[in-house]
Order: sequence, then structure tokens, then C-alpha cells
Amino acid sequence: MLTGAAEVYVQPSDLDQEELLMTLGDVLTQVAAGHTDGHRCPICENAELSCTEAHGEVTVTCAACRLDFHGWLG
Ligand SMILES: [Zn+2]
Repeated sequence: MLTGAAEVYVQPSDLDQEELLMTLGDVLTQVAAGHTDGHRCPICENAELSCTEAHGEVTVTCAACRLDFHGWLG
């Protein structure tokens, strides 16, 4: 589970943090499981996400819509 997403930076201003977590839920689950490649951005659907997971910190960014998500696995 992703908990305590204390820092969420997201440019698409029509999404609040809760909506973002729901929208990214599947991606975050996959990234947390180590599958960081091949996720299409669920927000703009125009680009592949750049995802990393290291020491429980998950980042998901999209070059197309400027999504910039940081969260921590708890
Ligand atoms: Zn995007």
C-alpha cells in the first residue's frame, strides 16, 4: 500500500491528491512491485510514464503533462 504521500507535486491542477492517488493506483501498485517500465500516463494518455522505486520512495513523472508524483511506501 502506498501511504503517507506527504509530498505530491502535480501540475494538472484539476486533480487533487486523492483523485491522483486513485488515478495512479494501478501504476503505483505495479511500480511498488518493481515493474517500473511501460506504464502509459493515465492522466494525459499521451506518453509513457517515467517511474522509479528506491528504498520505498516512488516517483512517477510524465514529460507530456508534467505530472510529478512523489510518494512513500508504508
Ligand atoms: Zn501525462
